[in-house]
Amino acid sequence: MALAAPPRILYTKPSVTELEVRYAADAAANGWGEHCYDYINRFEAAFKEHLGTPYAIATSSCTGALHMGMAALGIGPGDEVIMADTNWIASAAPIVHLGARPVFLDIRSDSWCLDPDLVEAAITPRTKAILAVHLYGNMCDMERLLTIGEAHGIPVIEDAAEAIGSEYYGKRAGSMGRFGAFSFHGTKTVTTGEGGMFVTSDPALYEKVLTLSNHGRSRQQKKQFWPNAVGFKYKMSNIQAALGCAQMERIDELTRRKRQIFHYYRDRLQDLSGVRMNPEPTNVVNGAWMPTVVFDEGTGVTRDMLSLAFATQNIDARVFFYPLSSLPMFDEVPGNRHAWDTPSRAMNLPSYHDLTDDEQDRVIGTVRRVFDEQC
Ligand SMILES: *Cc1c(COP(=O)(O)O)cnc(C)c1O
Repeated sequence: MALAAPPRILYTKPSVTELEVRYAADAAANGWGEHCYDYINRFEAAFKEHLGTPYAIATSSCTGALHMGMAALGIGPGDEVIMADTNWIASAAPIVHLGARPVFLDIRSDSWCLDPDLVEAAITPRTKAILAVHLYGNMCDMERLLTIGEAHGIPVIEDAAEAIGSEYYGKRAGSMGRFGAFSFHGTKTVTTGEGGMFVTSDPALYEKVLTLSNHGRSRQQKKQFWPNAVGFKYKMSNIQAALGCAQMERIDELTRRKRQIFHYYRDRLQDLSGVRMNPEPTNVVNGAWMPTVVFDEGTGVTRDMLSLAFATQNIDARVFFYPLSSLPMFDEVPGNRHAWDTPSRAMNLPSYHDLTDDEQDRVIGTVRRVFDEQC
């Protein structure tokens, strides 16, 4: 008789309590008419307070926030935006939609984020922005990127979708660039189901994006149904914002738990030589959205071995992002050595808030078994 598979361990799942349910139900019952923006306003205020930026606009997704922010910066046909090759497509898609071209550079082998050493040489007269994506919660080298941007008069944009809870020298991820974008997709640390946030400290940019976000209708325009430009429709609903308000009341708990899960893995895997996890350098806090193991080449451990071992254990681990330049719609840049090579020996580990120690021990046992079989 075949043994029953062990119970499924998901890789992500939102943390939703009575509070989220109560707020969402209240929004559904009462959040209409003159109250139709109440939770949206409250969510934006709570997020601004958390991040320490003066302006925020709730959106339907991070992709939408990036799209509007880049449009407001004037990025358009023929322009280039520098970014890391290792990324989710969402960071690159808005660039393409605006008619511009993402320029994919290699990642650092330790942070898996954009390598600042390569940025200066990639700048051309067409470069309109540097997109800093804090991969899996790991912080980009913001000081270097901001210095390069300043020297060339090129704005640095932060895609902080994966970096809620991450900090860099006391500043929160997403608060340092010309603008920041966040995601509240169901897999992210803070969720509204789908959703996002545009944040900035630049009042003029804020006004531009606010107008764009309202189908091009400026706040000053008193005439009804009179857009001043063709804008976008990337708004968050009041019901989604109600979920977000509850999540913001629990933000410390949510980020603390992600870090705790990460540290539990790290403490129990750090004796495996040639296996690295997400870095947390001095003066940096890693929000630990996605705990990742990367095996050195010398270990002989591959993604396929890890995938098979996790599948056998009924654990939903996920592969490391493929380089965007390996996808069919972009030109290949195999010279981006780390971006092309790292995914073949890496894996993302389950990390949802309600994960139990026993479940984490099963994940750890699986990683260790693959290691022992090879090394
Ligand atoms: C999830 C994610 C996005 C997309 O967020 P949506 O809200 O789904 O648009 C963008 N960038 C990064 C780095 C992400 O992880």
